[in-house]
Amino acid sequence: MDPISIKRPSDPYDLIWNEQPLPHFCYSLFSPYARLSHAVLTRHGGMSGGPYHSLNTSFGVGDHPDHVAANLHIIRDFLGARRLIHMKQVHGTRILAVHREDEKKEVFMPSADALITDAPGLALLVKQADCQGVILFDPGRRVVAVVHCGWRGNANNILSKTTARMQQEFGCRACDLLACIGPSLGPCCAEFVDHEKLFPEALKVVQVNGTAFFDLKAFSRRQLLDAGLKKEHIQVSGLCTRCRTDLFYSYRGEGRTGRFGTVAMLT
Ligand SMILES: [Zn+2]
Repeated sequence: MDPISIKRPSDPYDLIWNEQPLPHFCYSLFSPYARLSHAVLTRHGGMSGGPYHSLNTSFGVGDHPDHVAANLHIIRDFLGARRLIHMKQVHGTRILAVHREDEKKEVFMPSADALITDAPGLALLVKQADCQGVILFDPGRRVVAVVHCGWRGNANNILSKTTARMQQEFGCRACDLLACIGPSLGPCCAEFVDHEKLFPEALKVVQVNGTAFFDLKAFSRRQLLDAGLKKEHIQVSGLCTRCRTDLFYSYRGEGRTGRFGTVAMLT
């Protein structure tokens, strides 16, 4: 594979780039914690061709299923995971919790938009092409979650629902949780011409100067703060998927395309 030219991040709070062994970004917020393996993968390093080139993680976009299965194996091996759980993401609010004691139960592509576990070696994958992939981590109680959050996820506050489940089922406290919001549609490209019809009133707070553009990452950040997270416990990537189709898939930018993965696993 040719080396990927990546502009050095100008934002000190942005992600750390690693090209080997599989191109990916890491969050500096998670760096001190050896108990968590995580990666924001890109579109590079996989088997898919055409518009899905090359590390597409979704069976639902028209890519060859053998290529998608091979890509998921690449990701599982990269993390050294015993098992990789991924979802049929439906822009809903169903959250699946896989407890350590029931991790051997068969869960094949559940319809859900968030996964939580306290089981080491179990990799959780969220798939994106403009939506936000969010990782939540409790370093003390060793619980991790991944969330798929598009504007519907913001409207339904899936982030606070996920933190609530982490509190109820795993004994986490919101003030201990760390959260990272990944590369996704930035305010530069998040134009919603029908926002008056589509969006609930709450989303207006992140409307950019009365235009049809919205800062959905800022909205997620706000929802996490409202859920009780500390501001120094939240990292937000400045990367916009539509502006960076050299690195990521973008549904808005490309239409027929793949989905890149964000993965997290307790070690
Ligand atoms: Zn953009």
